Amino acid sequence: GGFESLNLSSNVFRGVKRKGYRIPTPIQRKTMPLILSGADVVAMARTGSGKTAAFLVPMLERLQQHVSQSGIRALILSPTRDLALQTLKFTQELGKFTDLRVSLLVGGDSMESQFEELAQSPDIIIATPGRLMHHLEEVDDMSLRSVEYVVFDEADSLFSMGFAEQLHRILQQLGDNRQTLLFSATLPSALAEFAKAGLRDPQLVRL
Ligand code: AMP
Repeated sequence: GGFESLNLSSNVFRGVKRKGYRIPTPIQRKTMPLILSGADVVAMARTGSGKTAAFLVPMLERLQQHVSQSGIRALILSPTRDLALQTLKFTQELGKFTDLRVSLLVGGDSMESQFEELAQSPDIIIATPGRLMHHLEEVDDMSLRSVEYVVFDEADSLFSMGFAEQLHRILQQLGDNRQTLLFSATLPSALAEFAKAGLRDPQLVRL
């Protein structure tokens, strides 16, 4: 099946077409139906496999399906500022025809400008863990309880770069009623433990 077989809403489908995607990559073919069904997923996928769209397209679709709630609805955690920036670009492109708002919280940008972005009530936040924790510590009324959709992207790098403690603290701040996805090239034991703590009956997808 191509992207048409996913029954995406027209504004999400338009974003996919506009990006020039016609045929889903293997990781997309395996993960997207599971994610659209609401399952938690651990996907073994590396950069270049099309993993970003594999979680962004279903995310945009699922956020579109419900009436907008207040608060942050989706959180994507990236190990590096560069990956976060690239994911932001993809989100803006694929989500071009939706009215979902997205903000970037990464180190290296001023906290002030990010406070201003947060004041605009973004639906989606793309963040590096250190900067996200910094905001959660600084801003009393910032909460992750409303988050419906969480992605740990390049999770093995998140761990190898020393974010383990921050990731556990972020998990504690999330509500129970959420869908959680973990994308990683490898699954070392610390990461498997983390997945056990943070995901609910995850489906394991490997190529
Ligand atoms: P990623 O693995 O997410 O970094 O994506 C690698 C590259 O593949 C990016 O340039 C994407 O825009 C591109 N890509 C992702 N999905 C598709 C698709 N279904 N068809 C063509 N290109 C794609």
